[in-house]
Amino acid sequence: MILAADWVVPMDGPPIADACVEVEDGLIVAVRPANGGEDEGERFRNAVILPGLVNAHTHLEYTAMAGFGDGLPFTPWIADHIRRKDTQAVVDLLDQSRAGAAACLASGVTTVADCCYAGTVAQAAGEAGLRAIVYLEGFSVWEGLEGRIEAALDALPVSELVTAGVSPHAPFTVTHSDYAMLIGLARRRGLPVATHLLESSRETEHLDAFRDVLGPDTVAVHAVLVNEEDIALLADLDVPVAHCPRSNALLGCGIAPLTELLDAGVRVGLGTDSPSSAIDFDLWSEMRTAIMLQRARTGRADALSAHTALELATTRAAAAIGLSDTIGSLSPGKAADLLVLDLTGSSFLPWDDPVTAAVYGGSPGRVALTMVAGEIRYRRGEREILAATAARAKMIEAEPG
Ligand SMILES: [Zn+2]
Repeated sequence: MILAADWVVPMDGPPIADACVEVEDGLIVAVRPANGGEDEGERFRNAVILPGLVNAHTHLEYTAMAGFGDGLPFTPWIADHIRRKDTQAVVDLLDQSRAGAAACLASGVTTVADCCYAGTVAQAAGEAGLRAIVYLEGFSVWEGLEGRIEAALDALPVSELVTAGVSPHAPFTVTHSDYAMLIGLARRRGLPVATHLLESSRETEHLDAFRDVLGPDTVAVHAVLVNEEDIALLADLDVPVAHCPRSNALLGCGIAPLTELLDAGVRVGLGTDSPSSAIDFDLWSEMRTAIMLQRARTGRADALSAHTALELATTRAAAAIGLSDTIGSLSPGKAADLLVLDLTGSSFLPWDDPVTAAVYGGSPGRVALTMVAGEIRYRRGEREILAATAARAKMIEAEPG
């Protein structure tokens, strides 16, 4: 299969004007200028082909929770979140995961790194053809935590696209000994880890307290309240960070020092978190928010470029979650995970810089096509809208705390 457009932005090299991407057996075999011949396959006008977006932190099981508890400080917000979540049977969480997987594909996201309470994202992603790492969450309050996680991992429907991980939830819900146990368990199985760290002022310990368990395989989600020592430790131990600026802003948690993290050489990927805190899974909006907040925070227009923001949602996100051999750029030999962004009628035409145009002009509604591993998983206009309305209704009816 060949897809052609006004621009291809491979991310491992400069943008190519009037170009095409050749796909075979699920892999990219060539990225080259189009020659105007008949073998150019499907041609998209006013469009740019990009690597599929990589969302470095999601909770697809909370897709239908948009707007709940808006304006509450972090501690009462999470209490409200838990109260509503507790109304959900596993089948409700599966409905939310299915709606979330569809929303991600429809917005150009081809991979999610998902912290998952009940494991339903593995099934939903598998059905939808969305690439996913499903980190199963663990909480110290759970009886028989180790056995419960082992059993859930054994039962998880993994595949070539959907793989497992482990997520000690956060320092305020997981003891130090359970952190060590869960991360040890993950490492014995060769699985990656993600955990929420230094998100809000509710956490009192800095990263030195986790020095013994953190490593290149443990994604630190949020890292809002990191100080200089924390940043140095993340760089020293090569601990990746998932940066979720909209969630952090909306919950009043603060603005992570992204430019300092990048300057220190920390691997950072952009994530949306869940609609519960961040409204939706729109990684385009997340890129723009990251740019605006860093420029406002530092008083520097060059604090974060559109190009680096796009890296944070592609190459850098892939590196942060340990998948850069497979995804993140349109490089021959990598998986054919890509999107077509149609900027017809926008202020970004005629073309100046395709990266700037994509980052500032991109939105879910402008995604014309999304491909994962060579399979078209979304085409605009052909999608039936999936919404977990019954699951949401149950959460709205939940008794106030
Ligand atoms: Zn989260």
